[in-house]
Amino acid sequence: RKNGYRAGNSVFSSPSSPNEEEIRFLEAAEYGDIPTVREMLSSPTLNTSCVDFMEQNALQLACGNEHFEIVELLTQGKSMSRIGDALLLAISKGYLRIAELLMNHPSFRVNQRLTKSPGELMLLDPESDFYSYDNDGTRFSSDITPIILAAQCQEFDIVYELIRRGATIQHPHEYKCQCADCTHMRRNDALNYCLSRLNAYKGLASPVYLSLITADPVRLALKLSHELTRMADVEKEFKVRVLYDQQVQLFRLNSPEDRTQGENVPATVFSLSLIIYCTIYQTSLVVHTLVATRLSARMPSLKHKSSICVSTLRSKRSILILNAFVLFICTRTMRSPFCKFATHGMAHAQFLMLLVLNCIDRVEWFKSSPPFAFLIHQTSEHGRHTEFNWCEVFIMLYTAGLLWNEVTELWDDGPRNYVVQLWNILDFFLLVILITSFVASFISHQNRLQSNNAQNDVQYIPSKSTDDTKMDVSVPKWMNYYCYKYADRSHWIGSDPQLIAEALYSLGIVLSFTRICYILEVSEKFGPLQISLLSTVGDIIKWCGIFFMIFGAFLLGLFNLYSYYGKPEAKTTKAFTTIEETFITLFWSLFGLADYRGVEVKYDHQWTRIVGYQLYGAYNIITVVIMLNMLIAMINRSYSDVQVDSDLEWKFARAKLMMSYFDNGNVLPVPYNLVTIPLRFYGCVVQL
Ligand SMILES: [Zn+2]
Repeated sequence: RKNGYRAGNSVFSSPSSPNEEEIRFLEAAEYGDIPTVREMLSSPTLNTSCVDFMEQNALQLACGNEHFEIVELLTQGKSMSRIGDALLLAISKGYLRIAELLMNHPSFRVNQRLTKSPGELMLLDPESDFYSYDNDGTRFSSDITPIILAAQCQEFDIVYELIRRGATIQHPHEYKCQCADCTHMRRNDALNYCLSRLNAYKGLASPVYLSLITADPVRLALKLSHELTRMADVEKEFKVRVLYDQQVQLFRLNSPEDRTQGENVPATVFSLSLIIYCTIYQTSLVVHTLVATRLSARMPSLKHKSSICVSTLRSKRSILILNAFVLFICTRTMRSPFCKFATHGMAHAQFLMLLVLNCIDRVEWFKSSPPFAFLIHQTSEHGRHTEFNWCEVFIMLYTAGLLWNEVTELWDDGPRNYVVQLWNILDFFLLVILITSFVASFISHQNRLQSNNAQNDVQYIPSKSTDDTKMDVSVPKWMNYYCYKYADRSHWIGSDPQLIAEALYSLGIVLSFTRICYILEVSEKFGPLQISLLSTVGDIIKWCGIFFMIFGAFLLGLFNLYSYYGKPEAKTTKAFTTIEETFITLFWSLFGLADYRGVEVKYDHQWTRIVGYQLYGAYNIITVVIMLNMLIAMINRSYSDVQVDSDLEWKFARAKLMMSYFDNGNVLPVPYNLVTIPLRFYGCVVQL
């Protein structure tokens, strides 16, 4: 690009053209005519730094055409100009011998020319043309030092030589650094400032450079890539994220299929902590052969299903065996990640079974026979519960176990790491809902007991329609409310604690079952499918942003139009007369379940009627035809996107799940983990 620009420029502005002798010399250098160059170098009249019409001198021409001997001749003799530029050219073209020859040239020892960037050298010596490409400036951006260029070009030997000679890549300052240099550069030339940072990072992130400056390049690369990811959010000018992907290339170097490329890079030891780091931050790394084998080695039982553990757990009496197993054999085998995974999974399955059993007494075909008596809710015969049944007691025990589990996890991981994992947030909500539900029903039980103790009237009023006046005035009003007399549901107020408890418990059931998804991630069949589904959630949230804006606009518009027609003689239906009615009508019309005549008014108000029809019609077209179809298209697209590398995503999710079982905490599954409470407190006391 630069050449084309220069050529055009030169033809018309006609700079001082070289004379006959100079043309011969330059051509000899360009085409590798060694005898001519040697002969002409001894000529006293020749200006060795002469340039051709492209403003290239003999050294640059010889370098560009890889004439090693001519470069050697040129650099031996009289002082030669633009040696720095020739070096950059040799590096960028990968001419190792020429680059080494030039690096050894004495002129590099002045002003630390090998380590400073052309731009910095210009500040020291403005007249120098050491690094200039032509009269206009340097070949590359002025912040490119030889080592940055070599690192970017992945020239292993050149980088090695440069590091040996003391060259390093300076780590760029923080983006918003307030030091004098940064402020000056930012104010003078913001574009160049950003470019120079990007160039430096590109050099730093190069696998060759990383593997040469540290014994553990992978760790450093991950650190760097973490920094770059963070920066990509701040520095919008250049999405440094490109680099982040480039980073990951480094690890391919270590994989067997790519041996040829990475022979020079020392193989790296993957430590466990490093793998943990990988699983948190880098999806693609987990699939890396080395990491994957390491993980499998840590979880041998997952790979070889023949182990005793699996066969035990698969047998039909697994639940009984599991309980015995958990209670009595609390040995070291329990600590193995696979056993932990299996026992925790089984414990959750038991919990779900309890949830199912707990509602079975209201299923029609259930006949209460003595062996199932423990399932029946001990109700006063007309609605209000007076006691918890065994199922509920066990569910509470499990909930307590879950709570203790989460507390220890929060304690061990710290709040930050705890919140990062979305499953933990789900668990938190599940716990809050279940505990609130139990507290509410406990309050109801207590009130019922107290009021029963206080009064002994047994006259039961079956429904609200009958006489309410026989209230006992000797006890407080709330006791009358809870007494046996008003036990029928028709007497309850909307905020009755038992109603609240029942509603929350239903929510809790749904959340408990979603936790199955967490375990399903391990399955090869369901895992990828489930991840595809989860990824569409993001799309739905984005879509909702636009949808609620449109929905809100029509909600307010239609409500304003019809809010004065609330009376039955004004409008055929209640639709749009209140905010609630408007919301209901608009929401259900998304699914075609609302009446289009909702906009009609009984009075002869044509204008209102027409505007109403227009608004409602426009709403239907925009939401049903456009928005809903857009949502379907979005889901389609992201589903097929994920499907393409669902294997990778699944392996990532599975590895993450595996990692969560590697740590030593929470060996015992819920609710047996409650046994550890005293131990834990004892541990804390001893520490103090
Ligand atoms: Zn700074």
